[in-house]
Amino acid sequence: MRDTEFYEALLGLGEAWKVTKVELNPTAGRIDVWIEDRGGCKWKCPECHKEATVYDHSQERVWRHLDTCQFGTYIHCRLPRVKCSQHGVRQVLAPWAASGSRFTLLFENRVIDTLKECDITGTNHLTGTTWYEAWKIMDKAVDRGLSRKERRVPEYLGIDEKSFAKRHRYETVISDLSRGTVECVIEGRRQESLEAYFVQFSKEELKQVKAIAMDMWDPYIAASKLFVPDAEDKIVFDRFHVMEQVTEAVDKVRRQEHRELILMGDDRLKGTKHLWLMNQEKIPDWRKAEFDEIKSTELKTARAWAIKESLRRFWQYRYPKNAHKYFKRWYFWATHSRLKPVIKAAKTLKRHLANILTYFKHRITNAVAEGLNSKIQMIKQMACGFRNQQHYRKAILFHCGGLDLYARASKQP
Ligand SMILES: [Zn+2]
Repeated sequence: MRDTEFYEALLGLGEAWKVTKVELNPTAGRIDVWIEDRGGCKWKCPECHKEATVYDHSQERVWRHLDTCQFGTYIHCRLPRVKCSQHGVRQVLAPWAASGSRFTLLFENRVIDTLKECDITGTNHLTGTTWYEAWKIMDKAVDRGLSRKERRVPEYLGIDEKSFAKRHRYETVISDLSRGTVECVIEGRRQESLEAYFVQFSKEELKQVKAIAMDMWDPYIAASKLFVPDAEDKIVFDRFHVMEQVTEAVDKVRRQEHRELILMGDDRLKGTKHLWLMNQEKIPDWRKAEFDEIKSTELKTARAWAIKESLRRFWQYRYPKNAHKYFKRWYFWATHSRLKPVIKAAKTLKRHLANILTYFKHRITNAVAEGLNSKIQMIKQMACGFRNQQHYRKAILFHCGGLDLYARASKQP
């Protein structure tokens, strides 16, 4: 087999193309392959797909292809231009590359696979691309994925905020809880941020939303109520965020009490922070005895902790009515605890109770979104190379969007 035939087979070019020359340059570590169209082929206008005759050939272009063994491989071709009666002179699209790309499809998809496994700098090392080239491939892959994505509103939405780089800069992450994918990432966590997502859908489409899990965050509540029909029955405050409110109150009580005790030379609470915050059954065996002892003391922290733990039972109810009854008893206890942070947290929950109780109807949480969050956290760590917030948003969609990212050939004769 001749080298040209060998590369024709390797590249799988089809009948319309032939390899005319292969050049190996061992010192430069590269192989150059020249491709030409075979004469006498029928071509189609890239716009209207009507058959058209070859008009001339454009200037030679070069595409980076997958390596052949250790050699970087480059494809050269002067693409034919056709004359369409409607669209005039147009260049035929190369079947081995996406329009406008300097890489072949196989190379681009290899870079996409590599980007899925490591950060951009790592991808640069493994594929011999520059930062900008790899970023461009990621950027285009996401755009391609979004354009291929079916337009629909997820039935179960998760809405979560995420901080970026410096504190006080936020992103709103909207996810599809059933699919476990990120739908959309929007700058900020204001009412308008979430509205920017909803506004693309009609009222009729938004009617299909069955429930929305979110934090007790007023701007998100307002945006949902404005756009989603019957949102008041559909908003479910995420139970983990609800528990977080009370857990934070326990921590505040502990910090304050610890300070007071230290002044009296009592350091019982030293090194106990995490014991009070974790669920009781998660406490490691070797600390159980110590914790059992300290939690049965008269400490304020122990009282706050007991109130927190008892709220965990609330979620086990099957019927909203019974859960509501339980909450009332819990609320009475919490608000009579004489522990300011606990009282404050209890009042926050009471204010939002209607949409905490919707949990017993829809049974959704942002746990999926939290899973995505840890993935996003990883992206953030990999993302010291992301030069701005927009890059970061694209990367989230690349890794978590569930998109069809791969480059494919455009239809050709
Ligand atoms: Zn045409």
